[in-house]
Amino acid sequence: MTSSVIIAGAGPIGLACAISAKRRGLDPLIIDAGAIANSIVRYPVNMTFFTTPERLEIGGHPLVCAGAKATREEALKYYRGVARVEALRVKTFTTLIDKNTVETRFGREQITCETLVLATGYFDHVNKLNVPGEELPHVRHYFDEAHLSSGLDVVVIGGKNSAVEAALQLFRAGARTTIVYRGATWPKSVKYWLRPDLENRIKAGEIQARLGSQVVEVTPRDVLVRGALGNEERISADRVYSLIGFHPDLDLFSRIGIAFDPETGRPQINPETLETSVPGVFVAGSVTAGNKISEIFIENGRFDGEKIFGSPAERRQARDLYQGIRRETGE
Ligand SMILES: Cc1cc2nc3c(=O)[nH]c(=O)nc-3n(C[C@H](O)[C@H](O)[C@H](O)COP(=O)(O)OP(=O)(O)OC[C@H]3O[C@@H](n4cnc5c(N)ncnc54)[C@H](O)[C@@H]3O)c2cc1C
Repeated sequence: MTSSVIIAGAGPIGLACAISAKRRGLDPLIIDAGAIANSIVRYPVNMTFFTTPERLEIGGHPLVCAGAKATREEALKYYRGVARVEALRVKTFTTLIDKNTVETRFGREQITCETLVLATGYFDHVNKLNVPGEELPHVRHYFDEAHLSSGLDVVVIGGKNSAVEAALQLFRAGARTTIVYRGATWPKSVKYWLRPDLENRIKAGEIQARLGSQVVEVTPRDVLVRGALGNEERISADRVYSLIGFHPDLDLFSRIGIAFDPETGRPQINPETLETSVPGVFVAGSVTAGNKISEIFIENGRFDGEKIFGSPAERRQARDLYQGIRRETGE
């Protein structure tokens, strides 16, 4: 596989980078370990974006949706439609292993390129609890849909938006739901409309909550939880959702030789061009923020291609757009 530009990751930002490259006369090849926009494929099936549609747009293509905000399905249609009309070369189910190798279902293959862009996100690498039983088949690290859990005992582990949203949906689908979170209070980042809903459900005894609690073990029947005072309790669980976040693929950085901060997972980059410590290798999108996964998202990462492939003036414009988004979102 040879191409002057290879972009790993066909998420919103990888596609946006490819459009930036194409508009400068290059013909990038995009590879993705999964499908186009594979992270969105993994969203809960009935999920609606928080961001308004115009801020999810790439390459100036309008995102038209039925309601005020795009659904998962509408976003998937949009990003694959953009790839089609821009005639982007995308090879799906092709994983970047290191700077010179990819893996497809037929085995490993050599790649050659002058410019490699990693727009690989973080969604493939879930944070682990590191407790016995975590790999049991009824333990899920992605929330799919609540209907599957109707009539079951379900434990949700985590206290951020994904966990809170999952717990509320599970309760509404008729699951006997317990949410277990290690923090003493719900984090400030919980969305303003989710927090009162959760607190009222807990007050009414409709959702059980264990704050300040650590998971010690998962068995096929239950979850062993230790409270702040050291008291232990077994909570019945037919299904467990461990929703405690994600991190970028630091092993991939190491295999390529990209220098990064082991604490934060942030790759060392030239902030103007997004070039890493390896000449010709760039990062774009959410992977640039390391473990701080709520720092770069679609709305503020979609200009990264302009920083990589643009002129100095275009880079400055991309940086100003990015800073404008940060100011507005208060990040
Ligand atoms: C439930 C949920 C709701 C969200 N809502 C919003 C929202 O409203 N607004 C918003 O802006 N953001 C939102 N986000 C965040 C948003 O999904 C991410 O910020 C965005 O997907 C980042 O885009 P990206 O292109 O950088 O990475 P991703 O979209 O994660 O794309 C990375 C791609 O790289 C591929 N990949 C990974 N490793 C390799 C490899 N080694 N080789 C080849 N390919 C690889 C993956 O398969 C994936 O397709 C939400 C996230 C979640 C989970």
